[in-house]
Amino acid sequence: MTDLAATVHDIARQMQHCEDRGRLPDYIPALAAGDLSKFGIAVALNDGTVVTGGDSEVRFSIQSISKVFTLTLSLGLFGDAIWRRVGKEPSGSAFNSIVQLEYENGIPRNPFINAGAIAIADALLASHEPRETIGEILHFIRMVANDEEIAIDPVIARSETATGFKNFALANYLAACGNLRNAPERALGVYFHQCAITMNCVQLARAGRYLSNGGVDPVTLRPIISSARARRINALMLTCGQYDGSGEFAFRVGLPAKSGVGGGILCVVPHVGAVAVWSPGLNERGNSQLGSIALEELATRQRWSVFG
Ligand code: GLU
Repeated sequence: MTDLAATVHDIARQMQHCEDRGRLPDYIPALAAGDLSKFGIAVALNDGTVVTGGDSEVRFSIQSISKVFTLTLSLGLFGDAIWRRVGKEPSGSAFNSIVQLEYENGIPRNPFINAGAIAIADALLASHEPRETIGEILHFIRMVANDEEIAIDPVIARSETATGFKNFALANYLAACGNLRNAPERALGVYFHQCAITMNCVQLARAGRYLSNGGVDPVTLRPIISSARARRINALMLTCGQYDGSGEFAFRVGLPAKSGVGGGILCVVPHVGAVAVWSPGLNERGNSQLGSIALEELATRQRWSVFG
């Protein structure tokens, strides 16, 4: 067994015995029924090796991790024009906060808070049917993961549509400020479905590898995005990827990463590969409790921090 495999197995075993496993999100009914005992981890190296531990093959709702992929797609389609609609600064407030949006005239702080991701979903929608845009996003994620099995969970999409009152408020506020081109329910149709994509840790880690390799999938050699843009997506993941817990995460882990309320975190290790962790219990900032601890442990033991 390699050192990395031993470390990953060790971490998975350690996580099994953790007592404080965080809390399930209760505002999306379909996610409130998660199983706190689960923990999975997958490390996909750029040489094609995949090292796994725990429940790495169990699918979960990727939620906000999808925002990394929609940002990539939108940069490819619209280039830097996208930055006229969303900023590049950490928000320092909750992921679904509306306060800042009002102060800043409908320009969301960054593409990873809900308002920013809804603006990106709206840009991707352009004047197409939501169904087509949802299909394009799914197609893109299947391509970067090199896996045609990835799908959307319709129960989760419906659950979010029924209870996403804050997201409706954000979309309406964006529309009131002229930062939404489509009707709020159409942009949200795309947004809720991208969040309801389900993947397991192995699929997610593979899908994130292009960000660790200058925008090129290191295994298929398919160019996904320019290296300059991959670098910028990583910068935003580092500064904004864990909502208002991003500073603490950079301090503890020191790697670009994006979390989702489904309990997953996708983490990029530049020039090495990508890591996906999943455990559905969340900490007080809405990031996976065990996932965050596991990444800190892994980055520390492997000396992977971008800060040396
Ligand atoms: N679909 C979730 C929401 O809009 C995404 C939040 C997250 O994963 O952080 O509330």
